[in-house]
Amino acid sequence: MDLRRRLPRRALLGAAGALALGGGSRPAAASAPFAEAELAHARDLRERGLADRTAHRLVRELCTGIGARPAGSPEDAKARAWAMGALTALGLENVRAEAFPLRVWRRGPAAARLTAPQPRPLVMAALGNSVATPAGGLDAEVAWYPSLAALRADTTDREQSRANGRIVFIDERTARTRDGRGYGNAVLARINGPVEAARRGAVALAIRSIGTSGEAGSGGSERAGTSPVAHTGATRYDLSVPRIPAFAVSVPDAEYIAAWQASGQMMRMHVDLQTRSGVDASTANVIAEWRGTDLADEVVLISAHLDTWDVGEGAEDDGAGVGIVCAAAGLMASAKRRARRTIRVVLFGNEENGFDGALQYGNRYKDVPHQLVAESDFGAGRIYAVRSRVAPAALPVIDAMAEVLAPLEIAHPEATRNQGNPGPDAGVLMRRHRWPAIALSQDGSRYFDVHHTVHDMFEHLDTAGLPQNVAAWAVTAWLAAQSPLPFGPPVL
Ligand SMILES: [Zn+2]
Repeated sequence: MDLRRRLPRRALLGAAGALALGGGSRPAAASAPFAEAELAHARDLRERGLADRTAHRLVRELCTGIGARPAGSPEDAKARAWAMGALTALGLENVRAEAFPLRVWRRGPAAARLTAPQPRPLVMAALGNSVATPAGGLDAEVAWYPSLAALRADTTDREQSRANGRIVFIDERTARTRDGRGYGNAVLARINGPVEAARRGAVALAIRSIGTSGEAGSGGSERAGTSPVAHTGATRYDLSVPRIPAFAVSVPDAEYIAAWQASGQMMRMHVDLQTRSGVDASTANVIAEWRGTDLADEVVLISAHLDTWDVGEGAEDDGAGVGIVCAAAGLMASAKRRARRTIRVVLFGNEENGFDGALQYGNRYKDVPHQLVAESDFGAGRIYAVRSRVAPAALPVIDAMAEVLAPLEIAHPEATRNQGNPGPDAGVLMRRHRWPAIALSQDGSRYFDVHHTVHDMFEHLDTAGLPQNVAAWAVTAWLAAQSPLPFGPPVL
């Protein structure tokens, strides 16, 4: 094994390529790419991660000490200062904030109510980027659609559309899934709803919250109490149609509205929401490193995002990820052993409303070879699977990594093992720069109960899964940084 490490790269590539081409079957000894001492260190990191409480401390400090930290806000700046202090204290090097300007959206006061057939105040939240209503609000009949698809199926001839002159309501339901695909499907109503509604003449858009809180009989809101809550999140406009105000109502309110719809009665709604768009601001990516040795100019990027929506404390989204990747890097630094490549922690700015941090990072480091980009941005749930996006020749290295992860109850699903999605910012970088990636998939069954709501608070975070996450990230980063083979270019 030691001999392999001294072979020139080209020879190693050939050897691994031959392994990968072996009729599609895995090599008998998948650990072969690493020397036993390297695997032993990975296993040691794993065991120390499982006993480590640093992530718990970090997410508590960030959430309860600072709270919501939307990009460009004073709390965003406080979070940056906190993160730089925390990363320095963990023994990491080259700790810095790389600032960039951006334009941000700001929420103002907002309220909505059903005015007919029965008056009822609605628990609501403006969608991110929503324009304001006219002063004093607007009042209109409701045109109810069961889904975005149903709205799209309606005619775009305004005079003929039910939406024309009305407040369109889209009742898209978010299915509870482990991997988040229920959200992935439903979120299109939030993102594309305003344009589709405006195209048909609507004066405003309301949606059932994209989330799993408050579902009848699901126990979905047990963790965060039983109070109904609305889920915010970004929406968008395009230049071809007027920009109309857009907001979400709580799931119980959506159920109430659906019941009136089923009764066939005409509904009216009043909404008054104030917002500001295009506010000049600045934010930054926070970066820290554990410098490598002979391949120090190659980067193993492990990341999370520091910004949040402007509600709650961003415990799941993404305080947990910040805690996990910082703690994992801290473990490697405290072991005082350097890997060949540089392990770089990046806490991105403004993931939530435009991926500015990822775009900024990519522009700045586009010429730097990246061995890996990966992001923790799915709360504190346990990791159940590892998947890569690497060159086929590198798959034996990923297989060896998966063997070290297996005792953490992390599977390496054969059919999808090279189809991982590494998280939002990391995904942007993977696609734009063709940088290889690894996805550590977390159980997100409960993630969308509090996601983008006032309930996303440290006190509602189930922290039991944090040590397993830290262990997995330390193993992944260390072995990626020690790999005898480059991971790229990935198969996208
Ligand atoms: Zn997030």
